[in-house]
Amino acid sequence: MSTLVQRWGQSLMDNYGTPPLALVSGSGAVVADEAGREYVDLLGGIAVNALGHAHPAVVAAVTKQVATLGHVSNLFVAEPPVALAELLLALAGRPGKVFFANSGAEANEAAFKLSRLTGRTHVVAARGGFHGRTMGALALTGQPAKADPFHPLPGDVTHVAYGDVAALEAAVTDATAMVILEPIQGENGIVVPPAGYLAAARRITARHGALLVLDEVQTGVGRTGHWFAHQAEGVEPDLVTLAKGLGGGLPIGACLAFGRAAELLGPGSHGTTFGGNPVSCAAALAVIATIANEGLLDHVKRVGERLRRGIEALGHSLVAEVRGAGLLLGVVLTEPVSGAAATALREAGFLVNPVQPGVVRLAPPLILTAEQADAFLTALPAALDAATPAAPVPADLAAAAAGSTTTEVSA
Ligand code: PMP
Repeated sequence: MSTLVQRWGQSLMDNYGTPPLALVSGSGAVVADEAGREYVDLLGGIAVNALGHAHPAVVAAVTKQVATLGHVSNLFVAEPPVALAELLLALAGRPGKVFFANSGAEANEAAFKLSRLTGRTHVVAARGGFHGRTMGALALTGQPAKADPFHPLPGDVTHVAYGDVAALEAAVTDATAMVILEPIQGENGIVVPPAGYLAAARRITARHGALLVLDEVQTGVGRTGHWFAHQAEGVEPDLVTLAKGLGGGLPIGACLAFGRAAELLGPGSHGTTFGGNPVSCAAALAVIATIANEGLLDHVKRVGERLRRGIEALGHSLVAEVRGAGLLLGVVLTEPVSGAAATALREAGFLVNPVQPGVVRLAPPLILTAEQADAFLTALPAALDAATPAAPVPADLAAAAAGSTTTEVSA
């Protein structure tokens, strides 16, 4: 075992499980481990590294900002958070206001708190949904295994089946403060709702005067080939939460609010020391400028489609389906062996994430090249072969091989 992983075991809490690798450097979509071995990063820090590792635009923007003006208290203002808020609202295409946080969970906490200021408390969220690990975000998260040990969580949250319009109709009432949904459920295994689901959620929430919050922490900032995934659906939510890819590797979260939602957080209602700090905002401005200047939204669509079609064309018996959008793809397996597939791929020089037992997540940097995608497609069949469970030996053959005469088979 690497000495770094050993030291990790003695000094860091075990909440993420034992890391399989200790990484020391990265450039573009490639990272290197302690032994100098290189891997194509198809995980991007779980959609964090929008521009990959050590992108010159991010390095330059962060270096310049940290050398000019680092952290300022939110009691004062600096150019980068203002410029970033203006830019995010311009990309959203609607006037509004932004609250900056430091993570996805914090962006969702802001939306949750803000919704209470409508005077209502009831919240509707989706089963399988993931919104973060702080207590409020966990109350919104629809994954009982993650939430159960931590009850009591903030209450009045109803979880409904994801993608089911009738379930939303039944759950949302005139007492509902907000409905929070992911445009695609990332942590639940890249689950794509039926077409028209978000539009139905918009209609239902509007009818009851409830806020519609779209958690775009995983799907936002170019990941699906659009600035925000909901734009592909032509839906106008009241709030959009962002994090992950926005900072190009630096911590930042954002809660965008439109219409009446933009006016709910008044002075003294909410805050965080580092939210909107100039350095993270400078990184985010560089990320957005680079996505725009280098035509990365189209690139994401092209390379994502190349990956999806390429995997489908393999016709491998372990692959049931490839789902998702742009460069957020889930390779759905016919067996719950995503961990074994990820291990085999790592040994072949590719980092992926077993997001659910039967789903491998691909969320590479948006700058992944066609050549890197093709190299992955070339390596994938052998990795899938290695992960395929051995076919059970028919009972009569097993008995014969064991020299036994018994024909009894246990379940
Ligand atoms: N929302 C979604 C949709 C996410 O995927 C995540 C992280 N996986 C979060 C919220 C939480 O973000 P963070 O880890 O930055 O708190």
